[in-house]
Order: sequence, then C-alpha cells, then structure tokens
Amino acid sequence: MREDTLIGGIGMGYRIGMAVGVTYVIAGLFGPDGRLLRREKRPTVRSSSSELLAEVADIARDLLAQEGVDNGRLDAVGIGLPGFIESDTGLVTSANLPFGEFPVASRLRHLLDVPITVHNDVKMTVYGESLRGAGRGYAYVLGVTLGTGMSSTWISNGKLHEGNGGLAGEIGHIRFPDISYACGCGMIGCLETVVSSSGIARQAREGLAAGWIGPLADRFPLELRDELTAIDVLEAYHAGDAFAAHLFQRTAKWLARALVPTIAMLSPDLIIIGGGVAAAGEVFFEALKTAVADGLHPLYRERLLIVPSQLGEDAGVYGSAEYAVNAMPMKV
Ligand SMILES: [Zn+2]
Repeated sequence: MREDTLIGGIGMGYRIGMAVGVTYVIAGLFGPDGRLLRREKRPTVRSSSSELLAEVADIARDLLAQEGVDNGRLDAVGIGLPGFIESDTGLVTSANLPFGEFPVASRLRHLLDVPITVHNDVKMTVYGESLRGAGRGYAYVLGVTLGTGMSSTWISNGKLHEGNGGLAGEIGHIRFPDISYACGCGMIGCLETVVSSSGIARQAREGLAAGWIGPLADRFPLELRDELTAIDVLEAYHAGDAFAAHLFQRTAKWLARALVPTIAMLSPDLIIIGGGVAAAGEVFFEALKTAVADGLHPLYRERLLIVPSQLGEDAGVYGSAEYAVNAMPMKV
C-alpha cells in the first residue's frame, strides 16, 4: 500500500481531463483539490482533424466558463484518445479519428495556451481507475480492459510503465497455438480474438451452431445469429442461461493464461478488470480467481486481489487529468 496519490501535485490550479471517442467527448473540470467539479459528454462532428480539435477546445472553454474559472487558472489539459502516440514526437495516428501522424498536443496547446498531454485512451482509463477508482491506495496495479479489444496497463507507485516503444501491456496480442482466429492486428491466434467482446460473441455463435440450447439459442435462431453481441450473452446470463455462464467461465480461463505469468513477473497488489465482460460479475470473477490461483505459488495468490473497475465511462477523464499534472513526458 502507498500513500494515496491524489490530483493536486504541481501547480495547484485547475485541470481538465478528456476522453475523445469516435462519436463523442467526455470531459471533466477538476479543482485544485482534485475534485471533479463539472463533467460533460458531448457528441462530436469530427469531419476533420482541425474541426475536431476546435470542438475539443470549445468544450474546455465551456467547462471553465460554466464554473466561472478564469482561463489563466487552468494548469493543464490531458487527452485520451484511441490511437497510437509516438512517445518521442507526440504524433498521433488513429484508425478511428481523423489523425494520421498528427501533432494533437501542440495544435491544442496553440488553441488553449496551456500544457497538453495526449495518451492512449485505454491507458488513461486504467490510469484513472488505478489512482482514483478501484486501485486507489494500492502501489502496484495491473489494469486489464476487455472491450472491443484487450489491453493491459502496469502502474507502479502511480507511474505508468510505457516500455520500449510504448508497447508495454499488449497482452491481448500474445499468440496461443490452439487459437486459430485472425486478429485485427494482422496476426493469427491472439488472445484478444477469444476474450474481447467480439471474441465472446464469436464463442457464443459457435456454441449455438454446435447445438447449445437455452434463452440465447431461442433468441438467436440461425437467421439472426450474426447480430449476436457480447451484451446479448450478458443478458442471457442474467436470464439464467447456463451456456452464457459457461462462456464467461471459459473466457476467464483464457484470460488467466496470460495473467498468470504476468502476475509472477510483476506481483501486483491488485488487478482491475474493466470493460463489458467485467459486468458479468461473480460468474466471471470466481472463475478467473480460481484459474489464476491454480497457476501460481500460494505466496502470490494470498496477496492478490482481483476486482472490477468502478469509475465506468468517466475513468478516462480522471486518468487524463491525473496524467496531465503528474509531470509526464510529452507535455507540450
Ligand atoms: Zn492481435
């Protein structure tokens, strides 16, 4: 355990954290004591890089105006977005946003005249969970996100571990010889192809094709099966579908394959699991804890906690704001 790492380090002014998504921005204005003062979720047009940045700047100005905070009292703005950020140049490349090797931080600095940090949205989400959510008060936190894809982030004493090339934590792209699916990354056999939301939906479709029966099978006859999503599997589980429960347990076992060696290497205090899969609750977490414990020496498993995330869609806002004030590199 460590002393709580609250926002409020350098500057002691206001700061803004933003999660820039594909269709909307969630932004939060934090006071000098680290409290979230105002939060807004706004749809974006995002037709071009400059238009999107102008919208982001407008949201920041509006938050300040709504709270009656003078622009000069803003210390920093942190941005999280889906994409790859080159740590040495700050250039952003995003498949889902109109940025191709685009200098988001320096352009936004020009618009808002405050220091700007830009980082990957998933990492900012886990960073927020680690410092202000489920990981608050813990020194060594491993965050795992199971959503459209799979990613993990290691935070040691409040510091985000980037690794060579910023590639630390991509455990979703570890390949296993008994997985045969093509991954969006270009490889075949990545863990992500079975434990992500789309992986769970695929497991479900294959199980129904193999003859599983129950509420999920009733709701998705053959002609509707392509529409089945991980949310449908979750709903079926809550409706008592034994096959859906089995899918979450199997997903937990898959995930444990990557977590066991990671835990042995890092010895976390806490693992936070976020994303849609975590909403399955006990059926998933109990299977995960059992599978992880099976693979580890008792000394690890006696100390380790595995918990769901707490901050929901605001985690990235907390994380980006924390990152912006914690003297990270790439602040321009
Ligand atoms: Zn992959």
